[in-house]
Amino acid sequence: MWKKVIVFAAVLSVLYACSKVAVTGRSQLSLVSNGEIIPMADKEYAEVIKKGPLSTNQEQIQMVKRVGVKIQKAVEQYMAQKGASSELAGFAWEFNLIDDPKMVNAWCMPGGKVAFYTGIMPICKDETGVAVVMGHEVAHAIANHGRERMSQQMIAQYGLSTVGALMGQNPTAGKELLMQAVGAGTNVGMLKFSREHESEADHIGLIFMAMAGYDPAAAPTFWQRMGQGGGSEPPEFLSTHPSHGTRIKDLQGWIPEAMKYYKKQ
Ligand SMILES: [Zn+2]
Repeated sequence: MWKKVIVFAAVLSVLYACSKVAVTGRSQLSLVSNGEIIPMADKEYAEVIKKGPLSTNQEQIQMVKRVGVKIQKAVEQYMAQKGASSELAGFAWEFNLIDDPKMVNAWCMPGGKVAFYTGIMPICKDETGVAVVMGHEVAHAIANHGRERMSQQMIAQYGLSTVGALMGQNPTAGKELLMQAVGAGTNVGMLKFSREHESEADHIGLIFMAMAGYDPAAAPTFWQRMGQGGGSEPPEFLSTHPSHGTRIKDLQGWIPEAMKYYKKQ
């Protein structure tokens, strides 16, 4: 009897543990709160930065930081307009460039800590290209995709519905799950962002870059360059994500909406 009650309670807690994504309004599973995940993310980020090595290319470092701060301001403005500033509680933004020319990747932790790898800079080509990637990565964090993926994996892999239980049982697995959930994992079993998450980050990212003063029409050309790059797929952008053709078509469809934010500048 009690066992049934406990199972029923667990199911209920999962059913009700939902939140809504900013901008798109999609409902998502949310067993992990920002209060729980941000301190973990900050700790893991500090480890990554300590290990580095950080780039010494001042021009590129300054570009990443400049774009980062502009996107941060755009996000703060957007959330304030939506009456959702409280969702940024605990955010302590940081933007760093790690020296790894072979790593075509970038990611943003829950809480606003961003890492770019030097390998993605030639594909970005210029500051607007950096803004395409920055907008996309920050959008994953604002849409709480890391939190959602961690929630899904906690249930799927471990049958657990709280971070406390996971960290109590297997702290190493908990940390690895977090890194994979934000696209920062380096292991072979790397989780892929779903097509839904990638599309959502593309859409939201376009609005953030436009609000930050960068022309959203540059986004499709960035993805064209990424498609031409060939070679190994970058971890954060691994498909199941939309094919480059679909992605570019979708982006073009969202540009008129993003232009409204861009023209206001
Ligand atoms: Zn992505």
